[in-house]
Amino acid sequence: MMLRSVRYLRTTGSYIGQCKTFCSNAAANDATNSQKNEHFDIVIAGGGMVGTTMACSLARNAMLRDKKILLLEASPAKEYRLTSKYSNRVSALSEATISLMMEIDAWPLIEDARYCPVKKMQVWETSSEAVLNFNNPHMDDPIAYIVENDVLLGAVSKILTETNASVKYGTKIESCNLLDADEKPKVTLSSGEQISCSLLIGADGAGSQVRKAIGGKYLSWNYDYMGVVATLKFSEATSNVVAWQRFLPTGPIALLPLNDEMSSLVWSLPNDRAKQVLELSAESFVDAVNDAFWKQHKQEQVVVDTTRSLGRTLASILPFSTSSPGSQQLQPTVASVEEGSRAAFPLGFGHASYYARLGAVLIGDAAHRIHPLAGQGVNLGFGDVKCLAEILATSAQNGTPLGQLKPLLDYERQRQLHNLPLMLGVDGLHRLYTANNTVAALARGVGVTVVEALTPLKGFFAKYAAS
Ligand SMILES: Cc1cc2nc3c(=O)[nH]c(=O)nc-3n(C[C@H](O)[C@H](O)[C@H](O)COP(=O)(O)OP(=O)(O)OC[C@H]3O[C@@H](n4cnc5c(N)ncnc54)[C@H](O)[C@@H]3O)c2cc1C
Repeated sequence: MMLRSVRYLRTTGSYIGQCKTFCSNAAANDATNSQKNEHFDIVIAGGGMVGTTMACSLARNAMLRDKKILLLEASPAKEYRLTSKYSNRVSALSEATISLMMEIDAWPLIEDARYCPVKKMQVWETSSEAVLNFNNPHMDDPIAYIVENDVLLGAVSKILTETNASVKYGTKIESCNLLDADEKPKVTLSSGEQISCSLLIGADGAGSQVRKAIGGKYLSWNYDYMGVVATLKFSEATSNVVAWQRFLPTGPIALLPLNDEMSSLVWSLPNDRAKQVLELSAESFVDAVNDAFWKQHKQEQVVVDTTRSLGRTLASILPFSTSSPGSQQLQPTVASVEEGSRAAFPLGFGHASYYARLGAVLIGDAAHRIHPLAGQGVNLGFGDVKCLAEILATSAQNGTPLGQLKPLLDYERQRQLHNLPLMLGVDGLHRLYTANNTVAALARGVGVTVVEALTPLKGFFAKYAAS
């Protein structure tokens, strides 16, 4: 186990052939930790995208700069090296996330590495002709940015090396002890070492130890679905700035742009089918993806007629309607899949009834886990980071000791009010789109047609997702 009391080692811009190293905590100054039972003001459990960003936000905040902060991450330190090969794990980042990345100076590093703007999103399904188009009213402005998870994590890890925060990689938290008001929270590491703190922030993902210590109900279910990911190539380069999502009876399939000739696939499939598609030959896999995007499914006449006439009526009576029946742009055809890029991840829903307790608080997937169909999981986590950093800074300014319950409950209230409706909405969409009956098909077609026709309503959904 290594304590990285972090001295900034400049590695940005070091080129190795076509590769560019843009972050390296691994190369940071190591000092063996001989002290046992150390105390920190703030301990962050979990150095994923959300935990590492939290550490940066706190360590860079003028109100909290004097605090002793420690980030604990179970996996070993990693050197982030950008190669020409794209990672199969990417996230669609909202505008609010980009602002947060700018605030902590991580965005220039991401820009310098690589990202792809999304200027339009087209959503459609199999049982009607209804199409939903999202784009920015200022036509050319992106509605989201596709960034590889490792690029983001590399950028925030590098920013963290420029702060006074300490990081311990290869350090698993075995248990957390949140005692009564007189005692400080304690974490016990796999080495047996104990660390106490005034505030423990749980960013340790869906299986969070900190959440278990906080207690309360954890509302959760598995979808028995997996998210199949892969890096796909088109036969020719185009201006690839559209994210495509088609709802199939088996679950949604989405293409997120990476560059002019490549996109990243996120395909939700029942577990059995997901395992099957991972086993297919590369050619059969590409055929299956093209089939999923192009195959015509049997449509019930009542659904087609209802949504078609509703679309026409709305377009004629609403001055601000954007609905023009048959306005579906043609999706691209996939030519090949990058070797070794296929993988699958189990999908589930989870929400902690308590995000906070005296001396401890949850952020990111530790507090909430969501189906990836709306591309919101990590964006919700970054929203938590921003909200918690602001509340802790204000409390520090007011002289409130770290770990006091009231500010943590303010955070819990604000974030639950934001997160829960969105999470339940996304879960409802998953259920609606995998329901195989005429009533559900009608509800979907009518819903999509109305939202597409009503610019303000569409703007509301887009704004909510971007915040
Ligand atoms: C297929 C797929 C596609 C997705 N696409 C999107 C998207 O487009 N947009 C979006 O916003 N979201 C997306 N998501 C969701 C997003 O990936 C997650 O919300 C995000 O990764 C959660 O980040 P986190 O840092 O909270 O948790 P995690 O990534 O789970 O990180 C937790 C960290 O804690 C560490 N840890 C765990 N336990 C311990 C312990 N006991 N001790 C020490 N360390 C510990 C782990 O090693 C890990 O590094 C997608 C998810 C999937 C599955």
